[in-house]
Amino acid sequence: MADQTIYRNLVTGGAGFLGSHLIDRLMKENQEVICLDNYFTGRKRNLAKWIGDPKFELIRHDVTIPIQLEVDRIWHLACPASPVHYQFNPIKTAKTSFLGTYNMLGLARRVGARILLASTSEVYGDPEIHPQPESYRGCVNTIGIRSCYDEGKRIAETLCFDYQRMHNTQIRVMRIFNTYGPRMLSNDGRVVSNFIVQALRGEPLTIYGDGSQTRSFCYVDDLIEGMAQLMNSEHSGPMNIGNPGEFTIRQLAELIKIRINPNLNLIQKPLPLDDPMQRKPVIELARKELGWEPKVSLEEGLDKTISWFKKEVKN
Ligand code: NAD
Ligand code: UDP
Repeated sequence: MADQTIYRNLVTGGAGFLGSHLIDRLMKENQEVICLDNYFTGRKRNLAKWIGDPKFELIRHDVTIPIQLEVDRIWHLACPASPVHYQFNPIKTAKTSFLGTYNMLGLARRVGARILLASTSEVYGDPEIHPQPESYRGCVNTIGIRSCYDEGKRIAETLCFDYQRMHNTQIRVMRIFNTYGPRMLSNDGRVVSNFIVQALRGEPLTIYGDGSQTRSFCYVDDLIEGMAQLMNSEHSGPMNIGNPGEFTIRQLAELIKIRINPNLNLIQKPLPLDDPMQRKPVIELARKELGWEPKVSLEEGLDKTISWFKKEVKN
């Protein structure tokens, strides 16, 4: 049975893509929500419908700076997620992951809150085993252009488990695989938004490398359902949440082309450094512990995402 308790929820990064969908869900459940964001990649308009609601509060704040709040649950999502944004100021990204998580764990400890960390499949790096179970320890470059993010999330996970061991802090560590859907930024450089926006503008789709690298794409509604279930469960994680359907980037381009304009060209651009060649989650743990699995197919999720971008993109 669903947990009906009303909690005071703090959502860091709540103005962003995933954070704003999470807030929609919490508000619809009649929960109290404080959104904390520095608006680096988030937008107030993602939350416009909740501004003025007595159960909703918005705080402009940077998680690298400590903050005192009385809350029961912390959903710690603050961190740029797309390579373009997290590489814009990599030192800041590393600080956000380390200091931000450290500050939120300190807060969780002080007020006895449960904290969920939005970690990532990037902790597996360019994986040598396929698909990736939670027990896989990863193959991550410590000094490359993706390291600020990948290593940042790894140390964030480490901090969570040290707080659990030292202070019995209630942690939930979620390893999120590539997620897409409405409210992705049209300029954030992630592959789904890039291809859709390019196609809607009648531009060629930019394939990095030969397009044989794979990703597993999870629709945002499925992801948020998994996030909520993990928070409510008794399992600390780490837990993979993602869609195990695996597609090459070229296949993704074809699926988007067919839906928007089959005549578009695909052009090749250089593969960025350390770009993982394959990625697919093992989700047996989520199935067993939460009874969760994704329900939305890539085709269906793309249709919904394309409809949203059609209103967003001005030709
Ligand atoms: P996003 O960039 O849309 O959202 C991140 C939010 O955090 C933004 O609103 C941004 O302004 C805010 N933020 C960034 N730095 C901050 C700081 N120092 N202080 C306060 N706020 C800050 O990204 P998203 O896709 O919604 O990702 C949310 C979380 O999920 C991130 O932690 C990301 O690492 C993780 N994640 C996302 C994906 C994905 O595919 N979307 C995959 C793996 C992990
Ligand atoms: N990619 C691409 N064209 C683009 C944007 C990305 O071919 O316009 C590729 C990118 O090189 C990577 C994959 O798509 O192999 C997923 O990229 P994204 O930035 O969305 O996520 P991540 O690499 O962090 O999984």
